[in-house]
Amino acid sequence: MTTPVIGVLALQGDVREHLIALAAVDAVARPVRRPEELAEIDGLVVPGGESTTMSRLANLFGMMEPLRERVRAGLPVYGTCAGLIMLADKILDPRSGQETIGGIDMIVRRNAFGRQNESFEAAVELTGIEGGPVEGVFIRAPWVESIGAEVEVLAEYDGHVVAVRQGRALATSFHPELTGDHRVHGFFVDMVRAAR
Ligand code: GLN
Repeated sequence: MTTPVIGVLALQGDVREHLIALAAVDAVARPVRRPEELAEIDGLVVPGGESTTMSRLANLFGMMEPLRERVRAGLPVYGTCAGLIMLADKILDPRSGQETIGGIDMIVRRNAFGRQNESFEAAVELTGIEGGPVEGVFIRAPWVESIGAEVEVLAEYDGHVVAVRQGRALATSFHPELTGDHRVHGFFVDMVRAAR
């Protein structure tokens, strides 16, 4: 089987870190900015950053609708932190005008951990990831407030849902791309391979 090509949505955020993590798990990784580039990828990562800015830029670059269509049509996607917010069907506390790509039937709370503690690290046990907990890097991180029946909870931290999967969409509140532990990216690449 040929190597999967995985795009990283490169409007804003920690794009480079995801490109490095994906290359480390033997995917071909490339930044994606334009609608036509969505036709060339087998999977997409939506990085961490700032979801309000990402929403604004996705609209400005004419990417929001193409992204929604491609995800609806079954493109495997993985969102970290701001990316998790972008994949939520609904935000509990959106900035005015803030939109999402959607794809996961969940309601998320932005900056949920942030108010208590701007940034922290914690060991997180993730369903489907073998070899012990991953180091969860939480930076003004959201949590998942509620989920629909089709959504599988993969991890909780401190009583809050921080990793979910619905079909071909995966999302974490934390940033595996910042740790050098590429197991979650490997898990996503396996999802992409299985979807082809
Ligand atoms: N708080 C940010 C947001 O609302 C997410 C932070 C992050 O991606 N590290 O988008």
